[in-house]
Amino acid sequence: MPDNASNRAAPLLSVEQLTVEYPVSGRTLSAVNDVSLAVGRGETLGLVGESGCGKSTLGRAVLQLRRPTAGKVVFDGTDLTALEGEALRLMRKRLQLIFQDPIASLNPRRCIGDIVAEPLIITGITDRAERERRVREVLTAVGLDPDLVWRRLPHEFSGGQCQRVCIARALILEPELVVCDEPVSALDVSIRAQILNLLEEMKRRYGLTLLFIAHDLAVVKAVSDRIAVMYLGRLCEVGPTEQVFGRPAHPYTALLLAAIPVPDPTVPPTTNVAAGEPPSPLDPPSGCRFRTRCPRADGICAKEVPDLRPTTSEQSVACHHPLTDR
Ligand code: ADP
Ligand code: MG
Repeated sequence: MPDNASNRAAPLLSVEQLTVEYPVSGRTLSAVNDVSLAVGRGETLGLVGESGCGKSTLGRAVLQLRRPTAGKVVFDGTDLTALEGEALRLMRKRLQLIFQDPIASLNPRRCIGDIVAEPLIITGITDRAERERRVREVLTAVGLDPDLVWRRLPHEFSGGQCQRVCIARALILEPELVVCDEPVSALDVSIRAQILNLLEEMKRRYGLTLLFIAHDLAVVKAVSDRIAVMYLGRLCEVGPTEQVFGRPAHPYTALLLAAIPVPDPTVPPTTNVAAGEPPSPLDPPSGCRFRTRCPRADGICAKEVPDLRPTTSEQSVACHHPLTDR
């Protein structure tokens, strides 16, 4: 079941019982397992969790760049998993992806103007003047001067500027949904805020809906209307940002929150999230996948997979012993 808040209106994106597996040396790696969530039009949903929990796999499966093993990805009423060929290509224009490493995701041998124009060429816009007009417009929108950057190559730019180019390239086809996969993680701390502000501005200007992926809770908090917390391929908790931060219902969320660094050198850093490393998704624990690191785990947690259940009208948690029971 998608969470309650998004049931209120028809969501732009609805992921339904999505499972994505990778074959790994004759075994099955369960990267995303039975995940359901919805993103309303104009909303920013933040997706957080430790590295390796399946965030990028989920993002790529939304765009059908990785075909899911099971489940649906319903975008504006159409199940993308049922589409192929030209029908999928046409829908895909409406969804775009921004990656973590801006420099690596730009072709080093092509000039900025051509890189940003490429999606227009691919979609068959043959009028050169029309292409130039649109490239100029979107470069200006992301804060780059078209006359200064057009003929230059990606290596001549900083990471932050390259991310502006990536954002321009993602926006040129005027998509409705943008999956931002750790868009500031590879950038210097000093320019992260600039890029986050730019994304906010672009969201308003182009009326975007964002699925914003990050392992950094502070970043997600700054941009998200709602937050979905993921652990080892499954959703732990979904809810409005202020509720999830103010009153986390899942023990894993609480541990993630406790691990946010305090900007005070006299406060000792909290030790790493729960004890040890997450188990392997090749061999996830039975029942609740978080139970091996959970301070509240007991017998039932090893036996039964907890469903995502509402705790309030807007917050849901997948836990046999949620913190809201206190
Ligand atoms: P995250 O983005 O949260 O760091 P990923 O979605 O990249 O997580 O990865 C989830 C799990 O799937 C990890 O265990 C990762 O090693 C595995 N994985 C990701 N991509 C592949 C792939 N192409 N082949 C096999 N395993 C993969
Ligand atoms: Mg990732």
